[in-house]
Amino acid sequence: MSTRTRLALHPLPTTLAAVALVAAGTLTVNAAPAQAAACNGYVGLTFDDGPSGNTPALLNALTQNRLRATMFNQGQYAAANPSQVQAQVNAGMWVGNHSYTHPHLTQLGQAQIDSEISRTQQAIATAGGGTPKLFRPPYGETNSTVKAVEAKYGLTEIIWDVDSQDWNGAGADAIVQAAGRLSNGQIILMHDWSANTRAAIPRIAQGLTARGLCAGRISPQTGRAVAP
Ligand SMILES: [Zn+2]
Repeated sequence: MSTRTRLALHPLPTTLAAVALVAAGTLTVNAAPAQAAACNGYVGLTFDDGPSGNTPALLNALTQNRLRATMFNQGQYAAANPSQVQAQVNAGMWVGNHSYTHPHLTQLGQAQIDSEISRTQQAIATAGGGTPKLFRPPYGETNSTVKAVEAKYGLTEIIWDVDSQDWNGAGADAIVQAAGRLSNGQIILMHDWSANTRAAIPRIAQGLTARGLCAGRISPQTGRAVAP
């Protein structure tokens, strides 16, 4: 039984016991309910390149640690795994567009860019993910033509402030440290497929809580992380 459950059943005696445990150094968590924790700021956790067979485990890790995130899905994977798009939404995540086939968009003409973006809007909507308002270009590569197509579909371009380097072989410790550099409003790049990132999630959550930061949504108006 969790500490929280025992607190709910026996608020006074268990709170006193928890205080005693904290005093004894054997209990490090705060006895107060998690939902009472102050959010002094919000950060945007983002996971690119899903949905995939890794998505259920990622969603489990996020929900178990009370984190919400923005999933920048590839359209080809949303079309192949529509139930996982629905699972993302059901788990409280937000869904963005990350192109259909993950090309270098800056090497394509406007019609091809339009196809990459529009087909992904359709695939995500068909899967039940809603019509995305956020777009992350593959590799963070953009130009005026990409921006014109984004505008056509009412999409806000979201790059990142902090790169976890999970795509580049970063270990869980380094990914936790990267998340530790986030400040209010900022966004971190991570990936759906990274086992190291999934392993880092409990410590990312602990680190944010310790700094009074909460996981937020990304505002299409400002491109910054805000309260959900
Ligand atoms: Zn990507």
